[in-house]
Amino acid sequence: MKTIRPLIAYEIMIIFSAVFLGLSIGSTFLFAFLPDFDSNVRMIAGIISGVMVMIFTTGLTMSIKSYSDQKHFLDQLKVENSYALGKESSFYNLEAFKARVRKLKRRSIYANKEQYIVAFTPTALDINTNQIRSRLMVDLNLHLAEFLDKLFVDNSNTEFEKRYNVYCFNRGIFLFYCFTNDKDYVHHLLNRISNECFRMVNEDKIKIWVQPFFGINHVKDDSSLTSAIEDAILARAHSEKNYESFTYFKESFRDSKENSSDEIQKALNNDEFIPYYQAKFSLKEQRFISTEVLARWKSPKYGVVGPAKFIEQAERAGLLNAIDVRIFELAVRDLGENIKRGRKVLPVSVNFSLYEFFSRNFLDTILNTLRKYNVPTNLLEIEITETTSQVNKFLSLSVIKKLKEYGIRVLMDDFGVGYSQIENLRQIPFDAIKIDKSFTDRIIEDPKTRTIVKLLVDLGHSNGMEVIIEGVENKEQVDILRKMKADTIQGFYYTRPISFAGYNEMLKSNAFEKGMKK
Ligand code: C2E
Ligand code: CA
Ligand code: CA
Repeated sequence: MKTIRPLIAYEIMIIFSAVFLGLSIGSTFLFAFLPDFDSNVRMIAGIISGVMVMIFTTGLTMSIKSYSDQKHFLDQLKVENSYALGKESSFYNLEAFKARVRKLKRRSIYANKEQYIVAFTPTALDINTNQIRSRLMVDLNLHLAEFLDKLFVDNSNTEFEKRYNVYCFNRGIFLFYCFTNDKDYVHHLLNRISNECFRMVNEDKIKIWVQPFFGINHVKDDSSLTSAIEDAILARAHSEKNYESFTYFKESFRDSKENSSDEIQKALNNDEFIPYYQAKFSLKEQRFISTEVLARWKSPKYGVVGPAKFIEQAERAGLLNAIDVRIFELAVRDLGENIKRGRKVLPVSVNFSLYEFFSRNFLDTILNTLRKYNVPTNLLEIEITETTSQVNKFLSLSVIKKLKEYGIRVLMDDFGVGYSQIENLRQIPFDAIKIDKSFTDRIIEDPKTRTIVKLLVDLGHSNGMEVIIEGVENKEQVDILRKMKADTIQGFYYTRPISFAGYNEMLKSNAFEKGMKK
């Protein structure tokens, strides 16, 4: 897949500004020191050259800054793509897509055309395990991304001209923005993509049955780009629900949708996301030893709602990072407050997705926030989930190592559900693994699950890691896990996630000191 915007343009700018800066400095010296000019000429030329020096210095600084911004963005994009598509590439993400569409919309030749947004997923049917699904979906999405790069070529003679189409891949959904006055254009496009999906299936290139679902939004001028994208995604959901190949967006779809990205954005602006706390219990020390921070949306309309109701939507709208950073800051603030008041404190673990690690200034944000509230780094743990294993190992390793150098512990969340995570365990120095709740759920009835969990516990230990078990709800499960020598238990059996006030009550109570239940 091709580079989204070659850095060469920036490099030429830098060279251009540097050469002209050199020339203007040279000419300033020339006029200042050569004796043959009369003083008026010397003064005017001096001023002109001085101004030129200033202009080209500014030009050079600006081009270096744009170059490094763009380079950073491209690097990040590569990592994001290796995460989402299983391959380093510069295929557009939502951010690049929106920037490009906004830019084109400002040009009159584009503004005079009709505009459509298409949201599309190749939905894989008939797959019974999540593991196979995620691996095949990565392959399939990559194949489609490469197909699209071939379909939209820079040639004005082709039906699908690149300059009138912007496309990207964002959290499992392909988005297209088409500028066209041809009424049938979008349908031609959908046909080509559908045919490609069916071709892959028929020719056995992909070992799953793939059903394309499209949502089309004929964009009206007055709608914001974010909500126009949202509408296309909503139309796509209708296609899938009704098993139609494509659906045009209708206003009535909006009423039925749960909470829109606009609503989530508003909730962010109004500070409605708050941390809840669920302590983890050490079987060896018989006491709570740390606490997971879990996001809740305290909505005036819906009450206190859990992540299941907003995380997916937030992720699609590109708002999850903002929520995570907010929750993180509030948790650190709460912790700082307890330290200041001389209360008992436990380390907190905060959830981040691995791709957020590569966002700009991740490490700075973490360290600055801890500093702001006077919280030592050893009171912070970071839980990361990894859904595909294709992530750039080198980069994640370097971020994790840096975190650890600062004394921040790193936990691998939902262990056991993704594929090939065992290999990651060998390569990435996690401090702990959290074995996913789906194992805990079956641990009593299913002997196979018990064998697997025991294996995972030993695996963690042999890599020198703490082993935490999630979602433990009863004593029988605790007893089994104790026998397996699991280190730490998190679950409703010990405590549910609770508000800061409730959590503080718990910290104060005797139950906490003595470790409540044996
Ligand atoms: P997770 O990280 O695996 O968190 C554990 C989830 O299991 C939490 O659900 C917790 O309330 C629930 N849980 C704990 N013990 C038990 C139990 O004994 N029984 C049952 N049935 N459930 C239990 P919650 O709070 O709904 O969070 C769901 C997921 O949302 C989390 O799964 C995590 O992946 C994500 N999440 C929560 N907060 C954040 C956040 O601030 N940022 C990000 N990126 N993700 C978050
Ligand atoms: Ca977690
Ligand atoms: Ca989990």
